[in-house]
Amino acid sequence: MHILLVEDDTGIAEPLVEGLQRQGYDVTWVRTGHEAMDEDPRDLVLLDLGLPDVDGEVVAARIRERSQVPIIIVTARSDEIDRVTLLDLGADDYLVKPFGFRELTARIRALMRRVSDRANVVEQEIEIGPLFVDHRTRTVRLDGLEISLTPKEYDLLAFLASDPGAVLSRDEILRSVWDEHWWGSTKTLDVHIASLRRKLGDADLILTVRGVGYQLAELAP
Ligand code: CA
Repeated sequence: MHILLVEDDTGIAEPLVEGLQRQGYDVTWVRTGHEAMDEDPRDLVLLDLGLPDVDGEVVAARIRERSQVPIIIVTARSDEIDRVTLLDLGADDYLVKPFGFRELTARIRALMRRVSDRANVVEQEIEIGPLFVDHRTRTVRLDGLEISLTPKEYDLLAFLASDPGAVLSRDEILRSVWDEHWWGSTKTLDVHIASLRRKLGDADLILTVRGVGYQLAELAP
């Protein structure tokens, strides 16, 4: 996977390039907006807003004019962040400096997952043990009996079911099921998990991974 890093601050860029390469990403690093606009971004753009020549906002808009490549905005201006503007520009996510490297790679993975979900034909039916999720009709059956779920409960279960056995972080779940920029209480997630468990009548189906998130149990057929 190829990442275009647009960052004029060498002290930030160098460790990023090194860290990302160690994770197996190909990285092209440019320091100015003009260089960025000359590049042909492939899989992901990490874009600093405060560039020496052109505002990062302009660069994002220019890239978006010709490409759907995912863009993560990186900015030091936390107080100036206007998520509506960022989304208008076509940015998919943003990080406020200083940020941890693990936070960055988690965001990259979550974003790439969403992009591939969008791109791939969604698997229409998922069967995990006694659980059957039908994307076409948005229905769920357990042991053959249909379970009546709210739209959000369905989305949540379908997301967990998309990767049974995988531990999904709270953040990842909130971003994917609710909103890319979820700002509300994370209690919402627990409330929905509780009600899903109640409706499924099987507490062992959705497992809590303490301090991380949730996991749909891998069930034998
Ligand atoms: Ca900068």
